[in-house]
Amino acid sequence: MSTKYIFVTGGVTSSLGKGILSASLAKLLQARGFSVTIQKLDPYINVDPGTLNPYEHGECYVTEDGAETDLDLGHYERFLNIPTSQANNVTTGRIYQSVINKERRGDYLGKTVQIIPHITDEIKRNIKYLGNKYKFDFVITEIGGTVGDIESLPYIESVRQLKWELGQSAQVIHLTLVPYLNASGELKTKPTQHSVKSLLEIGVQPDILVLRTEHHLSDDLKKKVALFCNVKENAVVQSIDVSTIYEVPLKMKEEKLDETVLHKFGMPVEKEPELKAWNNFLLRHKNPKTEVDIALIGKYVELHDAYKSIAESFIHAGAVNECKVNLHFIHSEEISRRNVHDELKNYKGIVVAPGFGHRGIRGKIEATRYARENNIPFLGICLGMQMAVIEFARNVLGFSGADSTEMNEVTKYPVIDLMEEQKGITNMGGTMRLGLFACEISTESKMHEAYKKELIHERHRHRYEFNNKFLNNFEKAGMTATGFNPDSGLVEAVELKNHPWFIGVQFHPEYSSTVLNPSPLFSAFVKACIENC
Ligand code: GLN
Repeated sequence: MSTKYIFVTGGVTSSLGKGILSASLAKLLQARGFSVTIQKLDPYINVDPGTLNPYEHGECYVTEDGAETDLDLGHYERFLNIPTSQANNVTTGRIYQSVINKERRGDYLGKTVQIIPHITDEIKRNIKYLGNKYKFDFVITEIGGTVGDIESLPYIESVRQLKWELGQSAQVIHLTLVPYLNASGELKTKPTQHSVKSLLEIGVQPDILVLRTEHHLSDDLKKKVALFCNVKENAVVQSIDVSTIYEVPLKMKEEKLDETVLHKFGMPVEKEPELKAWNNFLLRHKNPKTEVDIALIGKYVELHDAYKSIAESFIHAGAVNECKVNLHFIHSEEISRRNVHDELKNYKGIVVAPGFGHRGIRGKIEATRYARENNIPFLGICLGMQMAVIEFARNVLGFSGADSTEMNEVTKYPVIDLMEEQKGITNMGGTMRLGLFACEISTESKMHEAYKKELIHERHRHRYEFNNKFLNNFEKAGMTATGFNPDSGLVEAVELKNHPWFIGVQFHPEYSSTVLNPSPLFSAFVKACIENC
């Protein structure tokens, strides 16, 4: 079959969950046996979110091919259990960069380069690329931003053109909000009507409307929306608030969103989606037998999106262990040697989060020391692993002032350092180790108990590395390296010998945890936390 394209736009407000809606529809189509991918178009001018502060757009998600992308791609992978790549996230910056490069090369043969057709052609090329190259049955393209924004206009215009070009093979789903007015006890459809009008002004008639709501929508209300917005009644779909995002596919199935989509494409609706494993996960997630409190030490605690993949990994690992994981976000700047006991005494496990720069380092080191000295299960991720190494160097090896050269360039003990070949490179982006790398695991290690494999592949996003010059000192004193990159010999994992469960990993296991393939490391960590109860 030729690729079918589904565009998901948003209206009324941002943060309605276009990403979750896209992932849920994709899940249902995948569960019917189709190959599906999801793509996010972001209207900002940054070339990628790699340079964005987490306050701006939450976590930067890293794909296997080393692309720094929007956190929605994390949802796509967690739902679909198939990897995404750079092609799944396109920004305005990337589009313009490509068009300007072509212009400089003379590709436009002296023509005036304009938004229409040159920018829109580039957008359309990026949308169709996934269908053309990988022959997916469905490509779902989520358009970032809200209809009516100046930034997203070229994207909506491209959708208009594609709908025209592709005819029956393209559909637009518009997600809006139906607010509830407490004072009058009414659900209001006007914002939806206006939002559809804005789309129509740009020439796009949505095929399906999904209405986010806190209350059940009556048939009469749906009929009214259908009438005002030129869509069929069965194409007005309710999306009611649910307790977990992983329930949204089931809600969309109840609303027959997948069937409506297939009908509109003129495709037969034969069998039911196969969601056995998904339902099994939900069952375990919703009926935990135990509960455990885990502390996540980071510097963006007011903003949970900054650690999205870590939080989701704990949901997956919780389900594996039939345990409700209560993740408590604790600000690293608020932890000191004096208060660390009071701050952390109630937690059965401690995670030290990834991060960049000085801020909050001291608290992270104190939390690490507390976990080491008190036999509390510890998982250090990326910067968290580096903290474990620095803490051990200072407090066990007696390397006073040991540090990462990221924090102190002239330390006497650079236990975390840049590799020689990175040192001359001044462009920040150029020195990052990004994407999937192999890691060989030593047998008879906690790492091996967790992964049950000798060779794994995990994703990286960092600049600094364990300094192998000091490896002997660490190993003799009880911190062993149990994961190595087979090509470079770089240390990828360290653990403590005389501790119930203490692992630091240079990679990010959270990026590869999905509902159907939970991270073995998170699962083992949660198990250790339960045993610590
Ligand atoms: N700042 C550290 C480095 O660049 C760790 C990065 C991270 O935690 N992602 O190596």
